[in-house]
Amino acid sequence: MTTTDERNWAGNLVYRAERLAAPKTQEELSAVLAEARRASVIGTRHCFNDIADTTGTLISLAEMPREIDVVGDAVRVSAGTRYGDIAPQLQRAGRALGNLASLPHISVAGAVATGTHGSGDRIANLSAAVRAMTLVTADGDVRELRRGDDDFPGAVVHLGALGVVTHLELDTEPDYEVAQRVFDAPRWADVLARFDEVTALGDSVSIFTAFESTDVARQLWVKRRVPHGEIDTALIERIGARPADGPRHPIPGVFPDACSEQNDVPGPWFERLPHFRLAFTPSVGEELQSEYLLPRERAAEAIDALQTLSSSIAPLLHVCEIRTMKADDLWLSPAHGRDSVGIHFTWHRDEPAVRELLPRIEAIVAPLGARPHWGKIFTMPGDEVRSRYDRWEDFRELQQRLDPRGIFRNAYLERVGL
Ligand SMILES: Cc1cc2nc3c(=O)[nH]c(=O)nc-3n(C[C@H](O)[C@H](O)[C@H](O)COP(=O)(O)OP(=O)(O)OC[C@H]3O[C@@H](n4cnc5c(N)ncnc54)[C@H](O)[C@@H]3O)c2cc1C
Repeated sequence: MTTTDERNWAGNLVYRAERLAAPKTQEELSAVLAEARRASVIGTRHCFNDIADTTGTLISLAEMPREIDVVGDAVRVSAGTRYGDIAPQLQRAGRALGNLASLPHISVAGAVATGTHGSGDRIANLSAAVRAMTLVTADGDVRELRRGDDDFPGAVVHLGALGVVTHLELDTEPDYEVAQRVFDAPRWADVLARFDEVTALGDSVSIFTAFESTDVARQLWVKRRVPHGEIDTALIERIGARPADGPRHPIPGVFPDACSEQNDVPGPWFERLPHFRLAFTPSVGEELQSEYLLPRERAAEAIDALQTLSSSIAPLLHVCEIRTMKADDLWLSPAHGRDSVGIHFTWHRDEPAVRELLPRIEAIVAPLGARPHWGKIFTMPGDEVRSRYDRWEDFRELQQRLDPRGIFRNAYLERVGL
């Protein structure tokens, strides 16, 4: 029975929780947990599936004290803080994060819990920047987990299954600037034949396609740290891409106002790494998303094979984005143990049609080792998802140890076998 009207950001999910609690202090949080039969924490609600749902108490940390403390080469933040709020304060302290997702609107805790990523051959996902975390478990115990601790690589990407994360400490580096350029219509055959060279064109590269053509992709976005040299124009010519003659939005038909500045104009890292500005609705708003993370060496094969579904994909699609990530050692990270490529789909908000199409996409990408993004829509069965993670049983043991009464279990976790 639904007793709250609380929805996720995309509006495709009404949480099934009986109540929403917004504790203001650690004591109030412990009291909420002590009373809860089942509970789940929500961040900024940007997941497209029921990962953050519960039949019990939905806990929002939005009213807990907001903390952003830059200490030496790290920043300690309260869990509900958004990346977009941390960034200016870091910049004032002369520091920066090494990576951001396509939007600055998401909470640090929610992003880290799901292995959220940006793009870059040499940049790992956002969870890999976590140096320490404070976790309140179901019985109200407060645990500090730090890089180097045995449980740490299991606990960082936790899918909400271990408890309430109240604080995170992230790696920072000296402040830097980024400039981005957009190129139109690179030829698919050349992009796939030179995939490694194309994704090495910048620190962070995205290839966008709407699957409207099997000959050319839509856009190539290249973000480079400043100072940078000349871009490899010979490669740009070889793949048939043209410099964009004005600002671009990745989604066909959407005005580029919401996009971060392009045309190689340098700016702060947090105003260039995300595609979208904090003050605007990111992406299209009316949408759903799915994404599959593949071993890097299988990506070109996967993209090529997906072209055979173009006529089924295109009518449901706003845009597809292809990005790269460096491997990490976090047990449930989609990039665990392998350099990865994410093939991401932004869909029109027609969930039945998307769910009907996904098994055909998954039939192509699953045999190539795809792991679905934890926060987006997928239909791959739980046993297949688990088989992709060699530390799965270790994570289950950690979950049973930290949440023996299963307070944080929900339908999503049960479906994947947790
Ligand atoms: C427009 C848009 C663009 C996106 N772009 C990207 C992208 O570039 N790259 C990418 O990888 N993903 C992207 N995503 C997906 C998004 O990053 C993830 O869904 C991420 O989890 C969102 O964080 P959130 O705080 O909104 O999470 P929520 O949906 O609120 O929660 C996600 C999970 O985190 C848990 N959680 C949240 N806070 C806590 C806490 N304090 N303690 C314990 N558990 C907690 C929840 O229980 C749940 O399991 C995008 C989503 C949207 C809507």
